[in-house]
Amino acid sequence: MSQSPNNRFCKRCLVEEVSAEHYKHLQSYIAKIDDELKVTDITYQARLDICKGCDHLHEGLCRACGCYVELRGIMKRNRCPYKKWLAVSDQDEQALALSA
Ligand code: SF4
Repeated sequence: MSQSPNNRFCKRCLVEEVSAEHYKHLQSYIAKIDDELKVTDITYQARLDICKGCDHLHEGLCRACGCYVELRGIMKRNRCPYKKWLAVSDQDEQALALSA
């Protein structure tokens, strides 16, 4: 992965903030995942916000699990290795949508 424009590695940055080209590939991959397996936009954003406040995030990669958090966070069944965010069920997502 490339470095940020000022040639410094970017702690607590998502791929989106580090490399437009890499982000485009990541989004293309995410688009091919069955929608039923993915969380809602609200849950996705909440997960990414938590990751952005985490010391384990480094240039879009979680150093605890080795995943791109923008990919790990999109899947309902996934959870943070430190349980900062959890897996969600369809019922969880429906309840969240009703409360929004
Ligand atoms: S998945 Fe968990 S440990 Fe990894 S960056 Fe996100 S909040 Fe931190």
